Amino acid sequence: MSARNILVINCGSSSIKFALINRSHSTPLISGLAERLNSAEAALIWWHGGSIRKQQELPGADHRAALEQLLPLVDEACGGELHGIGHRVVHGGEHFTQAVRIDDSTLEAIRATVPLAPLHNPAHLVGIEASMQLYPGLPHVAVFDTAFHQSMPEHAFRYAIPEDLYREHSVRRYGFHGTSHRYVSLRAAEVTGLAVGDSSWLSAHLGNGCSTCAIVDGQSLDTSMGLTPLEGLVMGTRSGDVDPNLHGHLSRSLGWSLDEIDRVLNNRSGLLGLSGLSNDMRTLEQARNQGHRAATLAIEVFSYRLAKSLAALSCALPRLDGLIFTGGIGENSALVRAKTVGYLSLLGLAIDKTANARCVGGVTGGINLPDSTRILVIPTNEEKQIALDTLNLLQQRKGA
Ligand code: ADP
Repeated sequence: MSARNILVINCGSSSIKFALINRSHSTPLISGLAERLNSAEAALIWWHGGSIRKQQELPGADHRAALEQLLPLVDEACGGELHGIGHRVVHGGEHFTQAVRIDDSTLEAIRATVPLAPLHNPAHLVGIEASMQLYPGLPHVAVFDTAFHQSMPEHAFRYAIPEDLYREHSVRRYGFHGTSHRYVSLRAAEVTGLAVGDSSWLSAHLGNGCSTCAIVDGQSLDTSMGLTPLEGLVMGTRSGDVDPNLHGHLSRSLGWSLDEIDRVLNNRSGLLGLSGLSNDMRTLEQARNQGHRAATLAIEVFSYRLAKSLAALSCALPRLDGLIFTGGIGENSALVRAKTVGYLSLLGLAIDKTANARCVGGVTGGINLPDSTRILVIPTNEEKQIALDTLNLLQQRKGA
């Protein structure tokens, strides 16, 4: 089992990210991405283990053409011993509560969720269908970002809008980043020696997209993202929560179309919108150090809104065993962690400055003062979790 090689594939509209995972190796055997697909600049970039980057131009390549190029590299990296493919799928609607083996009915159900994720799910389907054609003999598994949050109780996932919008049009809160929240909460239980089935966490996944999650006994009970990944926290380019009347206001007062408003809230807001400078936290921290007023404000709003979300999600917990920071910002920004925790003393949280400064660049560790509730920095590894889910499913079917 430990020698099994699983390829993890994440198809976007113009890209494919991939990683070949073997549980007995700490880094992927090969990983990389095909980017700018369907354009003259399409290219495949990859790394073997920690080795130097290689690149091949693939002008005009689509998803299938890119997979045809990358799959032989994967085959070579695992000596022809590939055991399964795990596909990341952003939206599984209410249908999928866990990872599933892909067959015709799974594909049909993923197709049915396209209206809920019009940008992501069609790209996933293209990648799944192309790789199933190229590897018909291998098991293919779909792992959903939304599945972990299907344990949310109805009082957490319903919006206060007319019921038929939920019953007939599936308008409810789904949540995303489930694979990451699950991975870090399992790791948190592991590193603290607590039983997963008797543990209670708040987690903050802070990458380009950001979300919080309340996890009790291994189950998500609430999360900050909703029907779409726009709800909740301030993110790199997404606004997070705004007044729901903002769409109407912008349309009436500026004459903007729905598409324009969507673009502004998804692509030009968040850290980028507030700072007018960048969506990248590293750039903003540097600018703040040089006295940039708007970058300073962006970091303040980001941290305050994050703390507010964590405090709100604490309502879902019987007690707090620990707060987990993960994602590029959560794993590296001691500044954001310190500012956020500074607002959460009512939850019994206090940060240790030295430990906080030390836990960067992939270090796992506790960053709380001795008399504080635990605060943990835990690097996420969504590819590994997808590979583990794929392996578990294949193993269960063998045993069945
Ligand atoms: P994605 O969601 O695309 O996977 P990541 O999890 O890699 O993104 O997170 C990207 C974010 O992490 C960016 O805002 C980046 O600036 C931030 N980040 C990465 N390294 C650091 C660092 N050393 N200090 C502060 N922020 C960092």
